[in-house]
Amino acid sequence: MKHYHYIFTGSGLSALMTVYEMVISGKFKDKNILLIDENPKKTNDRTWCFWDEKGLYDTMAFAKWHSAWFKDKSFERELQLAPYLYKMIKGLDFYNLVFEVITKESNIQFVNQKVLDFKELGNHCVVKTEVESYTCNQVFNSVFNPELVKSQSKYPFLHQHFIGWFIKSKEAVFNPDCATFMDFSVKQKGNTRFMYVLPTSETEALLEYTLFSKELLPRKEYETEIQNYIQKLGITDYEIIEKEQGNIPMTCYPFWKHNSKNIINIGSAGGWTKASTGYTFKNATKKSKALVQFLSKETDLRKLHKTNKFWFYDLLLLDILDKKNEVGSTIFSSMFRKGNSTVIFKFLDEETTFWEDLQVIWKCPKGLFIQALITRIFRF
Ligand SMILES: Cc1cc2nc3c(=O)[nH]c(=O)nc-3n(C[C@H](O)[C@H](O)[C@H](O)COP(=O)(O)OP(=O)(O)OC[C@H]3O[C@@H](n4cnc5c(N)ncnc54)[C@H](O)[C@@H]3O)c2cc1C
Repeated sequence: MKHYHYIFTGSGLSALMTVYEMVISGKFKDKNILLIDENPKKTNDRTWCFWDEKGLYDTMAFAKWHSAWFKDKSFERELQLAPYLYKMIKGLDFYNLVFEVITKESNIQFVNQKVLDFKELGNHCVVKTEVESYTCNQVFNSVFNPELVKSQSKYPFLHQHFIGWFIKSKEAVFNPDCATFMDFSVKQKGNTRFMYVLPTSETEALLEYTLFSKELLPRKEYETEIQNYIQKLGITDYEIIEKEQGNIPMTCYPFWKHNSKNIINIGSAGGWTKASTGYTFKNATKKSKALVQFLSKETDLRKLHKTNKFWFYDLLLLDILDKKNEVGSTIFSSMFRKGNSTVIFKFLDEETTFWEDLQVIWKCPKGLFIQALITRIFRF
């Protein structure tokens, strides 16, 4: 069996970002690293958007916006995003960048194989794929196992699920300088449902019909809603250039409890997805850096995780949406109606002080959160 220092089971966003950080740090040249994925990562399987003020991955950004609409049935507000920019990165551009870098590193290899199992055996780990088995010192796993979350009831498990159409219209109806972050004016039907619009020119945009809820919809329902929205925008003639679909876990389940001395869960499988929004890209930039810094000093992977106050805030929101899925638009609207958008984005980035947290939380419907807090205290 071939032996490696590190094996990455799954080589998507979190694994590639971690390996990229390892290469940039220059501290892992003496480590043999194997990346395994069942998918060769040669197609554009997703687009990532995130707000950022530090120029992260700027050179590969496919589109950028300085402002974004927030809308519901009763109001609309154009949020000025400065000092942030809202950015879009194509998955394939990111995969290509990282693979270009790692193919120059003789200590890093990639194999296109399906992982069947991995386990820790004393001081080493064994990873079994459909093709062969490998041993290594440590495993970084990003293969998400939904059964872990489904088999418990202490932490709610919702999904951010959507279908997106990238369209080109005959009519010039879009403003490429302004995205639509959340448009809750669509019928809620007992859920938290919104449209998300990312225009890249006056005639081109990605439109996603999105829900934060427990149950997925039949494909036709997302697509009918996208068609209705396109009609509402006044578009009569358009073509669909690309489609995408996603189902992102929204949960505060403590994935890190499954970490061991030599196995760590990363990405969505490790709780890197922001539970209250489904955003993962920005978190992954921070968590992968922290992981790589940790590895240059420590070896016991159980020591990395630290729970913070934002985990608890997210838990309260998910507790509410789990029981009363229809109130999502009321909660987000109360935050965005008058709130300072810079502070809200900083809060969602988990970078606010307690005083700034209060500025955001104070705008939310207090009764719902107090009730959720009391119920949660009795569930711990
Ligand atoms: C369509 C879509 C759009 C998204 N948009 C955004 C966004 O705009 N902003 C944002 O912040 N987040 C977004 N997300 C959420 C999140 O950023 C992504 O899901 C992100 O890719 C998660 O990173 P990860 O490393 O956890 O998982 P992945 O990137 O999915 O990596 C896991 C890898 O494991 C591989 N794998 C799975 N099972 C096996 C197996 N048995 N053997 C071998 N390999 C296996 C998969 O092929 C995959 O490459 C989006 C997600 C999707 C699906």
